[in-house]
Amino acid sequence: MTLRTLDTLGSLEGKRVIVRCDLNVPLRDGIITDDGRVRASLPTLNALINAGARVVVCSHLGRPDGAPDPQYSLEPVAQRLSELLGAPVAFARDTVGESATEAVASLEDGGVVVIENLRFNPGETSKDAAERGAFAAELAKLGDVLVSDGFGVVHRKQASVYELAELLPSAAGLLIATELDVLDRLTENPERPYAVVLGGSKVSDKLGVISHLLPRVDRILVGGGMLFTFLKAQGHAVASSLLEEDQLDTVRGYIAEAAERGVELVLPTDVVVAASFSADADHEVAAADAIEQTAFGASGIGLDIGPETAARFAEVIRGSKTVFWNGPMGVFEFPAFAAGTKTVAQALTEVDGLSVVGGGDSAAAVRQLGFSDDRFGHISTGGGASLEFLEGKKLPGLEVLGWA
Ligand code: ADP
Ligand code: MG
Repeated sequence: MTLRTLDTLGSLEGKRVIVRCDLNVPLRDGIITDDGRVRASLPTLNALINAGARVVVCSHLGRPDGAPDPQYSLEPVAQRLSELLGAPVAFARDTVGESATEAVASLEDGGVVVIENLRFNPGETSKDAAERGAFAAELAKLGDVLVSDGFGVVHRKQASVYELAELLPSAAGLLIATELDVLDRLTENPERPYAVVLGGSKVSDKLGVISHLLPRVDRILVGGGMLFTFLKAQGHAVASSLLEEDQLDTVRGYIAEAAERGVELVLPTDVVVAASFSADADHEVAAADAIEQTAFGASGIGLDIGPETAARFAEVIRGSKTVFWNGPMGVFEFPAFAAGTKTVAQALTEVDGLSVVGGGDSAAAVRQLGFSDDRFGHISTGGGASLEFLEGKKLPGLEVLGWA
């Protein structure tokens, strides 16, 4: 079965269309620090506005505890959306209450309202299907159809993602369609050589992707905090760097499997070791087999891949036709340890083929380092969702839209 797309919903003129977006943007002091997800929602919203629909936008933001919490209000997002659409956007102070009902009733054809954070209601993320169903039924009163476009949440069985899509005629929006198109290109006949670059903090977060991708790729490059578990598995001491002892056997298994399958496993040959985990820590470059031989001895912490490794990674990336990258190469939040991530990001922009960045922190890293989105083949809006897709898992928010 294939995903139901917008055209399956028929004419939307004058219809109330609920759009489940993922507008979960990072906020600092009420200011949006990265509006990538708001921008990503525009194609679908513009299509619905142009079709004369009455557009009811809903989303979650942060992790409020199932009750209203002003720091997680979607109001600044509604304002940003209005600027980006170049049109007024109404805002409802509740999700399914009086304010939402009134705001939806006053919509004109082509008008847009954002209703308040879905997660101000315990039913949205409840583990209890009946509670989710009850909240979905409240939401369903606000619309005639549902367009599901929050790719970042399709791996979650939540009221607005799953139950609501069963209650109303529903279809996927353009963002979900685009994301799936790209992820399909990574799984069905990717152009070769196909390289996967993995980093981030923990191996245990990425085990599923590694084991699913090992039989499918030509090259795996490992950086970030997880590299130390690989180095340790190779027999190197890693001082006080991030290490997951309980994953050593699994990682040894991956190293053996890669060798067996002829997958090139590219591990760091040097790392940047710091005196402590802080932005202004003293640091030195050490060979991968001499991490404890810096001035910091056994208390040194590896916070980035070294320059030799970064150059090698860049060369392998540029020489690949398909590249998927998830996870920063180092603690990029500290400028002194962002060089590896920057070199890898730069190399991705030079790929003669398809380059995809997945993962919330990875997407934030490339933008923070000054790379514009259009320099990559695709930057996924969904970290967990894209990883689960690549792990070959069934995603409830897509299955309910007919995808199998
Ligand atoms: P994504 O969100 O892109 O999937 P992750 O959440 O897995 O990425 O990891 C991102 C985090 O990994 C960043 O906050 C970064 O600081 C951290 N990280 C990268 N390298 C290291 C390291 N050597 N030690 C500790 N943390 C690291
Ligand atoms: Mg993350």
